[in-house]
Amino acid sequence: MKNTPLPLMDLHRHLDGNIRPKTIWQLAQKNNISLPVSTLEDFIPYVQIQNQEADLMAFLKKLDWGVAVLSSLDDVKQIAYENVEDAFNAGLHYAELRFSPYYMAMNHKLNVQDVVGAIIDGINLGLKDFKIKIKLIGILSRTFGVEKCQLELDALLAFKNNITAIDLAGDEYNFSGSLFVEHFKQVQEAGLHITVHAGEAGGVQSMYQAIDELKATRIGHGVACASDEALMDYMLEKNIAIESCITSNYQTGTIDSIKNHPIKTFLNKGLKVCLNTDDPAVQGIEIKHEFKIAQSIVGLDDNDILTLKQNAFDVCFLSKDEKKDLLNSL
Ligand SMILES: [Zn+2]
Repeated sequence: MKNTPLPLMDLHRHLDGNIRPKTIWQLAQKNNISLPVSTLEDFIPYVQIQNQEADLMAFLKKLDWGVAVLSSLDDVKQIAYENVEDAFNAGLHYAELRFSPYYMAMNHKLNVQDVVGAIIDGINLGLKDFKIKIKLIGILSRTFGVEKCQLELDALLAFKNNITAIDLAGDEYNFSGSLFVEHFKQVQEAGLHITVHAGEAGGVQSMYQAIDELKATRIGHGVACASDEALMDYMLEKNIAIESCITSNYQTGTIDSIKNHPIKTFLNKGLKVCLNTDDPAVQGIEIKHEFKIAQSIVGLDDNDILTLKQNAFDVCFLSKDEKKDLLNSL
């Protein structure tokens, strides 16, 4: 594998957190949805983080306008297509795009299963125009409770050949992962991969729960384990990966400064950590920016950067053959 260039990957990237402000603006005009301000420029602060939010839930509020303007399946298809274009333009060779179908459907009472179908259609259209590999991850939004998550899961499993993994995201603080054990049993039975947002707004217990009860093999963020040697040892032993998102963790107030991001701790520990964006359009960042600040602010060296890329390649949800194909296509 040495000397072969490694693909640029983003494994933690929310499709519904990457709706272009300009598209939100245009869809609002088209769909007669009134916005709080009269120019696109003034609208940006409503849909993009300016510096740092009070907490995770304040951060997530910035995603709400993006889904509020999706009044038809064509709108959903359009933003899925644009997500492929954006990922390609960011220089990515491979991206795992995740989305919560109920969150995207709820404002205009779209059929949740149809939304999943529209996303898949939009992605496939994008893949005809842009040379990039994409896999989809379905999200259960814990914020909406147990029943809505079952609705999301049913809709996603109806397309299980097009969905590679299931994630649990949203309000980690108020909705413990223990509420969703039954959901993730169904995910295992369906043979899909599991990644869970944990240790972001919640503590180490939430991470243990995601690993032991939800059977996650990858943890989104996992910031909480940085101060817990026993948990990091446990993750090493169980080969659990961490999807780090540096700017996001600062913007949600999970870490107090970018400089203090624990990604270095994870690397030193030998954990399979990779670097990702989270919600590029909402955050006003892209993957190359994250690699840049990982070096210039967090202080990672070239070797660390290579390890992050190798880890992403190792823990991504591509099959062995797909990995081989991807390497050959570079
Ligand atoms: Zn996320």
